[in-house]
Amino acid sequence: MSVTIATINPATGETVKTFDAHTDSEVEERLALADETFRSWRRTSFAERAELVSRVGDILEGDLDDLARTVVIEMGKPLEQAKGEVRKCAGGFRYFAEHAEELLADTEVTGTAAKRRSYVTYQPIGTVLAVMPWNFPLWQVGRFAAPALMLGNTGLLKHASNVPQTALYLEEACRRAGLPKGAFQTLLIGSDKVERLLRDPRVKATTLTGSEAAGRSVASVAASEIKHSVLELGGSDPFIVMPSADLARAVEVGVKARVQNNGQSCIAAKRFILHEDIAEEYEERFAAEMAKLVVGDPLDPATDVGPLATPSGRDEVVEQVEDAIAKGARLLCGGGRIDGPGWFYPPTVLADLTPDMRVYREEVFGPVASMFTVASIDEAIALANDSDFGLGSNAWTEDAVEQQHFARELEAGMVFINWMVTSYYDLPFGGVKRSGYGRELAGPGIKEFANTKTVWID
Ligand code: NAP
Repeated sequence: MSVTIATINPATGETVKTFDAHTDSEVEERLALADETFRSWRRTSFAERAELVSRVGDILEGDLDDLARTVVIEMGKPLEQAKGEVRKCAGGFRYFAEHAEELLADTEVTGTAAKRRSYVTYQPIGTVLAVMPWNFPLWQVGRFAAPALMLGNTGLLKHASNVPQTALYLEEACRRAGLPKGAFQTLLIGSDKVERLLRDPRVKATTLTGSEAAGRSVASVAASEIKHSVLELGGSDPFIVMPSADLARAVEVGVKARVQNNGQSCIAAKRFILHEDIAEEYEERFAAEMAKLVVGDPLDPATDVGPLATPSGRDEVVEQVEDAIAKGARLLCGGGRIDGPGWFYPPTVLADLTPDMRVYREEVFGPVASMFTVASIDEAIALANDSDFGLGSNAWTEDAVEQQHFARELEAGMVFINWMVTSYYDLPFGGVKRSGYGRELAGPGIKEFANTKTVWID
């Protein structure tokens, strides 16, 4: 099967550059090199690895302007947000360079019957295959690569087919930083080549960020080979607003949480669940702010919301919103396709939603907010949990008892009170239910691809 690996500017629809996929023998060469490099890389010290890995961060930051533009041309996010992503990714390389040794320190275990000592030590396992999405094309990769490299693993990246320049840049940045050539390599391949790689004994584990279909396929192959996998899949995060919330801030942050990255973020706030005491006011103020957002060229500093990354992604959003309206949803702003070149979609707010509408159950990967009204905290939690997803969740309340109730009862991998779900280097990131399993970032993230080895000395 031939695969299109190309930069296609989502703001214009123009094909900027196409790439030939790696041949089977090129893939084999890279795989062999990754495996061979692991043997020496795993024996380097934390200090040696830290010097090179933190240098990757410096290189990214040194290339800030050009790199951010490349990201914009490949996937369409507004330029300032692309710069923010470059900085965040650079910081991630530096964070793990600085903290990996402490995060991976041996854990002494006392009180066992061992005469001298028993402890747990964390060792690298080998080459890990990362299958990554286009929406945060740098940061998604950085948050896998930085901890993996610091642990002593080697990485192979199969990036999304629409961000090849970003994928190749990341390999080159590692090379320029002085990492061995086989420590981190990009494979320009279609998704049909992933199974063969996963079945190769030199690939020890895999991590995938992307859709449920891709996750199911990769995880089932990995499972049949008894290999560990981490899945970061979709989300339909609730954003609950209670009467005691600071409404102005909940509106401002809510809009940002919905439209960041042109609405294409797994942890975007997607379902706004409003207590009836403030629902009408919140809806009105929220829709007014959404309607003010500037949609346009992502390279223009005045733009708030750029195009969706692919035509099929835009078609999906169009169909989901049309389905809701046809079934009786109330449109508060936006809706409809924007004519002209590029795959633009306006910030949109829907209310009066019912379970038979697609937007009620499905993730909407675009700048579309769904509004729900509830009469109590228990109803808010029940509605929030009535979802196949369980990635992040947001709840806004000044009441300490309610805050604890949300923290305990929301079925999600992350609960953010009075702030939007965000990834931080030092906090674990990941979901439950169909949003996936395993964690990225912080201690749990760096240990996902470790051999957690028990040592007993008598
Ligand atoms: P996608 O189609 O699943 O693509 C993601 C990656 O998986 C790409 O590299 C893709 O390669 C590859 N892929 C697709 N099908 C595959 C298969 N059957 N076997 C092996 N690899 C396969 O998803 P997307 O449209 O790019 O991304 C949107 C989804 O990702 C959303 O659901 C979003 O919520 C989720 N996401 C989750 C997180 C998180 O951390 N939880 C973060 C960001 C995005 P090709 O490009 O070559 O098809």
